[in-house]
Amino acid sequence: MKYVGAHVSAAGGLANAVIRAAEIDATAFALFTKNQRQWRAAPLNEEGITAFQAACEQYQYSPAQILPHDSYLINLGHPVTEALEKSREAFIDEMSRCQQLGLTLLNFHPGSHLQQIPEDECLARIAESINIALEKTQGVTAVIENTAGQGSNLGFKFEHLAAIIDGVEDKSRVGVCIDTCHAFAAGYDLRSAEVTEKTFAEFERIVGFKYLRGMHLNDAKSQFASRVDRHHSLGEGNIGHDAFRWIMQDHRFDGIPLILETVNSDIWAEEIAWLKAQQTQEKVA
Ligand SMILES: [Zn+2]
Ligand SMILES: [Zn+2]
Repeated sequence: MKYVGAHVSAAGGLANAVIRAAEIDATAFALFTKNQRQWRAAPLNEEGITAFQAACEQYQYSPAQILPHDSYLINLGHPVTEALEKSREAFIDEMSRCQQLGLTLLNFHPGSHLQQIPEDECLARIAESINIALEKTQGVTAVIENTAGQGSNLGFKFEHLAAIIDGVEDKSRVGVCIDTCHAFAAGYDLRSAEVTEKTFAEFERIVGFKYLRGMHLNDAKSQFASRVDRHHSLGEGNIGHDAFRWIMQDHRFDGIPLILETVNSDIWAEEIAWLKAQQTQEKVA
């Protein structure tokens, strides 16, 4: 069973995100549980939690279909101690919010070395940040997203994801989310079914599908291996349709949220319908 949806707005309350997902016939969705551009947010209250959970029940979304995303400000590999502490605190808060909502996944970008520490030291800091957050929370898996490798962001190589996982003590609560636009921009080809198969064979070899907890399905405005992160609507960018059809026909992507973060939210319903339809299309080579 494939769960397909988009990163919907939670404006006006988290329960609204659920309604917006249902409106576009999504069987999965992503959301921010607080303003993603601010450090602080009011704690969740009982009323908001209940409303969110009631909406999930009404529209039949289980935690396996929901992939919350953390704030963009957090850098779990920050080279400066005070800033690292601030990020770790904010991340624990994000994990706790998911726990309070009864959600089981939290998707985040690994972190940046800001040209101040070596890559391996930054990766070790990220792993330690995850260890601390897992220690302080329960039931929520930390889901590391691959990046395009813009600036000094790590996570653009499968080896980075593997190194972080390697440093996490509780392997049962760490996973990864692969963003197709980020992978493509980082130099993993997805321009045909054949190369997509090769890219995911490499993923299996270096990280392993057993850690795959979600996908971001985005076409790329950015060029191949450009290290630039610019999303596009499915089929309209430099990746094209084939990779997305291939993913929809491969059972290793079953049972996890497959989330659009494409640029035109007006056509999300169409994109979701197209993705769902690919499952029964003739198999791609
Ligand atoms: Zn993404
Ligand atoms: Zn992106």
